[in-house]
Amino acid sequence: MLPNLIGGKWRQPRGCPALPLYNPATGEVIEHAPLSPEADVAEAVAAAAHAGSRWAATPVMERTRLMFNYKALLERHFEELAAIVTRNHGKTLEEARGEVRRGIEMVDFACAAPTLLQGRTLRAVNTAIDQDYYRYPLGVVGGIVPFNFPVMIPLWMFPLAVVSGNTFVLKPSERTPLGAIRLAQLFAEAGFPDGVLNLVHGAADTVNALLAAPEVRGISFVGSEPAARHVYQEAARHGKRVQAAGGAKNHIFVLPDADWELATSAIIASAFGNAGERCLAGSVAVGVGGAAAQLTARLEQAARKLRLGCGTDPGVDMGPVVADDHRRRVLGHIERAADQGAHIVVDGRRPEYVDRPGFFVGPTIVDRVTPAMAAGREEIFGPVLALSQVDDVRQAIDLVNRLPLGNMAAVFTGSGSTARQFRDQVECGMIGINVGVAQPLAFYPFSGWKSSFYGDLHLQGSDGIDFYTRKKIVVSRW
Ligand code: NAD
Repeated sequence: MLPNLIGGKWRQPRGCPALPLYNPATGEVIEHAPLSPEADVAEAVAAAAHAGSRWAATPVMERTRLMFNYKALLERHFEELAAIVTRNHGKTLEEARGEVRRGIEMVDFACAAPTLLQGRTLRAVNTAIDQDYYRYPLGVVGGIVPFNFPVMIPLWMFPLAVVSGNTFVLKPSERTPLGAIRLAQLFAEAGFPDGVLNLVHGAADTVNALLAAPEVRGISFVGSEPAARHVYQEAARHGKRVQAAGGAKNHIFVLPDADWELATSAIIASAFGNAGERCLAGSVAVGVGGAAAQLTARLEQAARKLRLGCGTDPGVDMGPVVADDHRRRVLGHIERAADQGAHIVVDGRRPEYVDRPGFFVGPTIVDRVTPAMAAGREEIFGPVLALSQVDDVRQAIDLVNRLPLGNMAAVFTGSGSTARQFRDQVECGMIGINVGVAQPLAFYPFSGWKSSFYGDLHLQGSDGIDFYTRKKIVVSRW
């Protein structure tokens, strides 16, 4: 059973159930993750609180120097981290490398702490009076992460939090916790003091214990919409600052004047990259103004060429989904789409996909999907691309704006004015213009809107620094 990290010591939780962890490409059990009891959460929070005052008083330059050490270690262990992601999550090694790179970029960003943590000063606001603000850490921060980016998403959180002077309790995904363990080991090797980063395995009960712990001042969460809503409400009820990024249903529109080669390859990568288990996955591709027939034909042809297999095998485009229960959910969605009248263009349920060992679903395209159907509204989080059509850009914008989720929307067009209209009128926080996955890099906020995000300050970028610090205003007369 995997150990928790509490105050610098790796400890087995006692007397609690554990969940099996799988290699999704083979279906083999590779480890067990404990569902840690409340007592372990309390000890981790106490260890973080104990380490907190000394860590907050550690000079910024020392905290930054340790972050540079961490960056160097992550680079040295880059391939090892990618291999862990592939083994525990199933994505291809190439995709895992991309994830690790995006995660390390958050550490690069955190290394700018001496600039990022600066306050502001206004001299002579009145006769002999100056005003300044300084940034102070919150104290103990809790981080709760999803299964789909087991290295990148923890790195969205704790590097920025700790370089800002906070201490941290990380609750990894109960399905993919192996990456977080290696991140925590390397963090200790970089020289960070005991208790600055703690790690407690578990699921909803463990999270709820963290949300209720009085010493925890802030909560960073990434996961599905219902869990994000719950965490936001519950953390707020306990008086905590919270940022909670939730689910998505991303639409990608293609106009007849688009660059078709670019649009086709970008939509295929968006829908089937990471086996569709990505909050920025294009989930519905929509032909605008007569583009639908060509869109269907091109996507069908491209999807049929995708090679499915074990993520470590060369030449594989798409790995398995994370777990068998998740695979059954995805297959259920395909079934339901067919029952509701959608036309299955490419069927990922074929025996060559689903009868092999591991948790595979083939790339699937379902056409004639409407917003009234589950496939047009609900997040599937698997390799299933729905196709639909609208008459014009106005209808495209309305289609997105009627959805409760608002993570990403994208448009492929050769018209600057259409792109501009789309950018300005679509109610989503991340917009792709001739780009299929509109991922903000570390220095920009990961900016979900509507029910894709609960809170005020997003993860990453200057929002991240604002979230992990509070401002103190000093008014002085001399
Ligand atoms: P999930 O919501 O099942 O789990 C996420 C985390 O929340 C896990 O650590 C889990 O233990 C915990 N959790 C789950 N249910 C809970 C509950 N009722 N109470 C308290 N804690 C709970 O999500 P997942 O299946 O691991 O990840 C996939 C989801 O994450 C998708 O919906 C995806 O869109 C979303 N996601 C969003 C972003 C983003 O930035 N918006 C990024 C990645 C993934």
